[in-house]
Amino acid sequence: MPDGHLREGIVGGRLGPSQYADNFSDLHPPLDHHEALVESDRCYFCYDAPCMNACPTAIDIPMFIREISTGNPIGAAKTIFDQNILGGMCARVCPTETLCEEACVREEAEGKPVQIGRLQRYATDAAMAEERQFYERAPSTGRKIAVVGAGPAGLAAAHRLARHGHDVTIFEARPKPGGLNEYGIAAYKSTENFAQAEVDYVTAIGGITIEHGRALGRDVQLADLADAYDAVFLGLGLGGVNALRADGEDAEGVDNAVEFIADLRQASDLGALPVGRRVVVVGGGMTAIDAAVQSKLLGAEEVTICYRRGKEHMNASGFEQDLAASKGVTIRHWLQPRRVVTDAGAVAGLELEYTRLQDGKLVGIGQTVVIPADQVFKAIGQTFVGETVGGAAAVALKDGRIEVDQEGRTSNAKIWAGGDCVADAREDLTVAAVAAGRDAAESIHRALTSNGRA
Ligand SMILES: Cc1cc2nc3c(=O)[nH]c(=O)nc-3n(C[C@H](O)[C@H](O)[C@H](O)COP(=O)(O)OP(=O)(O)OC[C@H]3O[C@@H](n4cnc5c(N)ncnc54)[C@H](O)[C@@H]3O)c2cc1C
Ligand code: SF4
Repeated sequence: MPDGHLREGIVGGRLGPSQYADNFSDLHPPLDHHEALVESDRCYFCYDAPCMNACPTAIDIPMFIREISTGNPIGAAKTIFDQNILGGMCARVCPTETLCEEACVREEAEGKPVQIGRLQRYATDAAMAEERQFYERAPSTGRKIAVVGAGPAGLAAAHRLARHGHDVTIFEARPKPGGLNEYGIAAYKSTENFAQAEVDYVTAIGGITIEHGRALGRDVQLADLADAYDAVFLGLGLGGVNALRADGEDAEGVDNAVEFIADLRQASDLGALPVGRRVVVVGGGMTAIDAAVQSKLLGAEEVTICYRRGKEHMNASGFEQDLAASKGVTIRHWLQPRRVVTDAGAVAGLELEYTRLQDGKLVGIGQTVVIPADQVFKAIGQTFVGETVGGAAAVALKDGRIEVDQEGRTSNAKIWAGGDCVADAREDLTVAAVAAGRDAAESIHRALTSNGRA
């Protein structure tokens, strides 16, 4: 049983400044010119391009790789941005190993896919470095659209709407734009303030105004937006977090992993960020991996991820699990939290029950283990905060998120939604949110220009 001194384990500055810089440097460093040419040459330019079918934004991957291989990275960037205006961020954060690169025929044939993500980054970085803008706004339509949330879904929607000549106002609760690109993505995936640079690139098209510190449900109501604007797009993401359902989870030192990551992303001095000596992360997805890996990189000594099912059930990809292991994180399976062990009100350990599948159902087997910890992170899924979309213009919910049809239309004829906040979201991924925002924008445009329902 842990002793009474574990809270002393929560400190910052465990490592030297150069070690922090090293630990949080680019996970996949950019390809140089020669590397990009060699890598692009590996592509077979398949006529049926399974990689393209696996991309939620349907980027013409063989086309952009061909453009790189013929010395035209700027043309390649346009091919990417035509489908995905946040192609720069997606190149950094997409779990390509479960999307395009998993489908690549060279993965099938030799277990070594074309590095599509890194090639995409090569092209988009080249265009952004030159500040090359590819799109002009259509003549003004005089229509005004409110977008709520400046995350990937909201930004993709805003850009597509602005391209069509509509005037867009984004209402964003937080002081900075980008959503989880700014506040959630692991620091080593998005370095050098890339999230802000990308927002600047996207909004450079014009016709997009972002109002920060303006929260729906607090500073502005949905019914007022629906009255004042020709259409509304909701890209609210997920603001809540699931409970551990363990006794004593309010103890000091039991924290929301997403908030920890947000603090880390905003910290100007990583050495000042407190982290436990012994950290336990509960969950099996990307957030769990990111919280665990970044705790380790901040200098935590022992970091353990506990997941209630087996390795094969984890939402985190094999690549991410291997990444965690390579950083010294231990992943333990078939364990569910039961009780937070405390010492003077602060966490001192986590008691977990072993689990197994019985007739396809997860059950606890009654035996427990205590893992000593001075910090516990909850990473067991986020939830949608439904109150924000209530009131006179309330939209229907399904499974706790906003219900939309194939085009992103909600139950309210003037309101669309997309990204993590909708039910049946394709996947809670940046690229899926971009696709949803873009497609909803096209639907709004059709509705506004064909005298449709909006
Ligand atoms: C820790 C973590 C790591 C992740 N890592 C990856 C990864 O590596 N790769 C990947 O593909 N995906 C990753 N994801 C998932 C990805 O970040 C999301 O799927 C994506 O950001 C969803 O975009 P969105 O626009 O729907 O929502 P968000 O990015 O959450 O943006 C929503 C925006 O709406 C704003 N907002 C919320 N409520 C209000 C309100 N009431 N009024 C006004 N504004 C409001 C928020 O402040 C935010 O700016 C990660 C998620 C998390 C939590
Ligand atoms: S599947 Fe692989 S080899 Fe084929 S077009 Fe796509 S990236 Fe190229």
